[in-house]
Amino acid sequence: QVRVRYAPSPTGFLHIGGARTALFNYLYAKHYDGTFIVRIEDTDIERNVEGGEASQLDNLRWLGIIPEESIDIGGPYAPYRQMERLSIYKERAEKLLANGQVYKCFCSAERLQQSREEQKAAGVAAPHYDGTCRTLTQEQIQAKEAAGEAYTLRMRVPEGTYRFHDLVRGDVAFESKDIGDWVIMKTNGIPTYNFAVALDDYDMDISHVFRGEEHLSNTPKQLMVFEAFGWTPPQYGHMTLIVNEQRKKLSKRDETIVQFVSQYRELGFLPEAMFNFFALLGWSPEGEQELLSPEELIEQFDVRRLSKSVSMFDQKKLMWMNNQYIKRLSSEALVELVLPHLQKANVFPAEVNEEQLEWVKELALLYQEQLTYGAEIVELTKHYFEENVIYEDEAQAWLEASETAAIAEALTTTLQEETPMSSEEWKQLIKKIQKQTGLKGKNLFMPIRILLTGQTHGPELPLVLKLLGKDLLVKRLAQFNG
Ligand code: GLU
Repeated sequence: QVRVRYAPSPTGFLHIGGARTALFNYLYAKHYDGTFIVRIEDTDIERNVEGGEASQLDNLRWLGIIPEESIDIGGPYAPYRQMERLSIYKERAEKLLANGQVYKCFCSAERLQQSREEQKAAGVAAPHYDGTCRTLTQEQIQAKEAAGEAYTLRMRVPEGTYRFHDLVRGDVAFESKDIGDWVIMKTNGIPTYNFAVALDDYDMDISHVFRGEEHLSNTPKQLMVFEAFGWTPPQYGHMTLIVNEQRKKLSKRDETIVQFVSQYRELGFLPEAMFNFFALLGWSPEGEQELLSPEELIEQFDVRRLSKSVSMFDQKKLMWMNNQYIKRLSSEALVELVLPHLQKANVFPAEVNEEQLEWVKELALLYQEQLTYGAEIVELTKHYFEENVIYEDEAQAWLEASETAAIAEALTTTLQEETPMSSEEWKQLIKKIQKQTGLKGKNLFMPIRILLTGQTHGPELPLVLKLLGKDLLVKRLAQFNG
């Protein structure tokens, strides 16, 4: 039975790295008809942020990464929030204490800091606990406790080598002497991450753990906990780093990349596209195909194809992919995507009637091919909502051309008598202007487009004119005529 989990700490919002981890666990579970769990690791209480937990759950759901067991839906291994499992950790820690596998450590934070500095000065690359309290006698311990000294519980790390087979990087080994006796319970009675995570993985019957490379060095500590209780550990797979386009490790402060799922959601990226994109961040299917549905990804997911080298977060590729998904949207779904952005930009009313809805639909369809994300519609279509035309730089030369003046005059007089409504009627009107001015091709279309939209490029002219409507066009001609 495959049981995997995504175990975010609510110390932040759903990050692209977290989403990728969650997705790989999810795909693995679904591929093997297993169970995907979301567990909240909130024991680092000072670092938890308001709204972090909700953001994690809500944005995962939006992406379509839906757990079978979690804090909000419950499940047979509840509770799924670590702070609600404190009594379990305490009881287990006491067992280890009773048989001497862990010991009480009374060293103060200052002492530990000092020891670390001394080791560093002596050239120790990874300083660790110096073992001061390892050999305290029963009397010494009692005296310290009687004096009210606070203590942590430390693992009495056995000598030896910890080996395991990582599903991504193969055989890995860690020497226990490089780790040192580590804390399993803090002075406040709250377990450390490495202790709680191992107990939960055991108690929740987790079979496989896929997580980021930053946890690789934690794995031997977790294996020690399994060993201390005589349990079989899950299989681990550590995914490689996500890097930016300069191939540098992503830092949360890197402003060249949008890093939180909620931000993509607000910008109008499609969850299906993000799902597809994240799946290819450190994994690849066998063929060349890049656009894959969740069903295809689930079917093809194979951990042997997890990448051993870093994965570059290619925003251009994400844009391309999102555009591919936007192109496939039905007109209803397209309107649903763009309308909120037009409303948010205050160019469209919050309440829309049938006629306005139809208008937005036609507008959206004109830009569907090129739209890369929902919010982009505002920039692409701003000339439909402004009274005056804003002429693009490339339009300047045309504005001074005699053809343009001739066309402006012809348009002005013709629109005094006619009110074209459909795009077909606008097409006829353009033909009329052609006859009147004797201009054709680019010399006809470019001035019309520029006069009425300010732009040198855009969708088919009669369709654009229809949506702009006569009233606005007349104003724009007046603007040109000065
Ligand atoms: N709570 C850990 C984190 O947010 C996850 C650790 C794990 O997957 O084991 O990084």
